Amino acid sequence: MTLKILLNGCNGRMGRAISGIASQQGAEIAFPVDVGDDPAAGIEGCDVVVDFSLPTATLSLIQLASGANKPVVIGTTGHTPEQREQILIEASSLPVVWANNFSVGVNLLFYLTQKAASILDSSYNPEIVEMHHRHKVDAPSGTAVRLLEIVRRARALEPGCEQHGREGVTGARPEGQIGVHALRGGDVVGEHTVHFAGEGERIELSHRASDRSIFAQGALRAAHWVLSQPPGLYDMQDVLGLK
Ligand code: NAD
Repeated sequence: MTLKILLNGCNGRMGRAISGIASQQGAEIAFPVDVGDDPAAGIEGCDVVVDFSLPTATLSLIQLASGANKPVVIGTTGHTPEQREQILIEASSLPVVWANNFSVGVNLLFYLTQKAASILDSSYNPEIVEMHHRHKVDAPSGTAVRLLEIVRRARALEPGCEQHGREGVTGARPEGQIGVHALRGGDVVGEHTVHFAGEGERIELSHRASDRSIFAQGALRAAHWVLSQPPGLYDMQDVLGLK
């Protein structure tokens, strides 16, 4: 059976990447939606709703999906904590895959970062560096935020231990801090490195995306997977069986 998708944000970079490979992955974009279109007009004919748009566009889409009882895949990043909370309330009766990064390699990076942060003691200072194209509107990336959370939890540090960038007379780096740095420029699809800098050695775990199709493939894999799941909130680690 061909999976019928309502694709929100169909004219964007990710929307075009998903449309470009859908047929190779047993799916079709049955109802493409972009700004100004009415998703309600086509949702009934779709099996699943996929969102790669803007943080402000997700909530009304989820309300619609909830009313029509359609499972959802959310790829949009940059939601505020309030937006996220509202979306989760509206989505509570649906199976939802919500991932800031749908690439298999990045999900492996999450796994390896968790291992490294647990094995290396606090004398190995973690610094997270990400780089994206100049059009990206949110910083740090959702993936960098996830890496931050993984290191923070593995090290049992309090929320707020992160330091976004540095400037001026900062003093010595305190232990228990996690540095986060966002670089922007050109056409970089997405790069993330977690440094663990110790005395006499440094470990770096890096992922570099060179083609948006890795996210599109993961999102389509999640769209197939979510169809047979009970209501609940899932991420790409669930889809890949990494938990
Ligand atoms: P983009 O700016 O190229 O595309 C966004 C699209 O959404 C545009 O076509 C825009 O017109 C449309 N849009 C805006 N408001 C809308 C609305 N109210 N309803 C419907 N469509 C609307 O951005 P992009 O690079 O395609 O990325 C989209 C989102 O996906 C961003 O939040 C980005 O960070 C995220 N992203 C996630 C992953 C992942 O793996 N989860 C990977 C890449 C990008």
